[in-house]
Amino acid sequence: ERWFRIAGTSVGESSGLFVLVFKDQSEIRRIDRMRADFIANASHELRTPLASVAGFIDTLRGPARNDPKAREQFLQIMQNQTARMARLIDDLLSLSRLEMKSYAPASGTIDVRPLVEGVIDALRHLAADNGVDIVKDIPSGPVEVRGNGDELTQVFENLLENAIKYGQSGGRVEVSVLPAEPGTGPRVSFTDHGPGIAEEHLPRVTERFYRVDVETSRSQKGTGLGLAIVKHILTRHNARLTIKSKIGEGATFTVNFPTN
Ligand code: ADP
Repeated sequence: ERWFRIAGTSVGESSGLFVLVFKDQSEIRRIDRMRADFIANASHELRTPLASVAGFIDTLRGPARNDPKAREQFLQIMQNQTARMARLIDDLLSLSRLEMKSYAPASGTIDVRPLVEGVIDALRHLAADNGVDIVKDIPSGPVEVRGNGDELTQVFENLLENAIKYGQSGGRVEVSVLPAEPGTGPRVSFTDHGPGIAEEHLPRVTERFYRVDVETSRSQKGTGLGLAIVKHILTRHNARLTIKSKIGEGATFTVNFPTN
């Protein structure tokens, strides 16, 4: 529609058509480039652990063949690297599944409280391993939103997992479910007291494979796809993700559901 308006107002009929074709081409090129970048990134992310596993196989066949202690250590590394590849493939599959499915908004409503409670239970172990305490603030009455329970569970899981991973060891992670108020839809927020995210990185953290600090994020078992998946799912739900953060003080990720 935008292009036809250009054709109608500023440039003549025939050059208008030219603009239309030209813009269309550049959009196709942009999407092609994005796709190529994505494939390059995904291949690189898979190649790194794969190269490491291949290297350790050689070492196990050669120098470490008769050294049980080294063998055990190398097998452990290989196990971690294969787990990393499996996580990456799971996330890639989630993304491509989301992209393939056309989204029909759920007709019914769903109470988000049991979804959030379930995610907290599922991640208690990870929290304990990271020395993080989960504190929840969940109202006693239902907090209903329109949406898909499995997809929203994945959103809450990714956000809580990040809060735990990047939160401060010995610190708290606060999970709040806030009912709708006049003019504001229901909200679910996750607050940690970790290093936070600098302002210049905020708009980019939901991009695929974007990581603020590659070393820390790698050691935290991330794929760099978690927030991209979150954003994708929320867009389908007409919901918004807002991030508030202060360096050194932590971050709050809030899912804002639409009013209705
Ligand atoms: P990852 O798998 O690396 O965690 P995500 O897409 O979930 O990927 O997050 C992207 C990046 O955003 C992370 O690598 C990290 O740098 C940053 N990030 C996400 N959540 C937090 C948080 N709660 N505190 C600080 N940084 C965060």
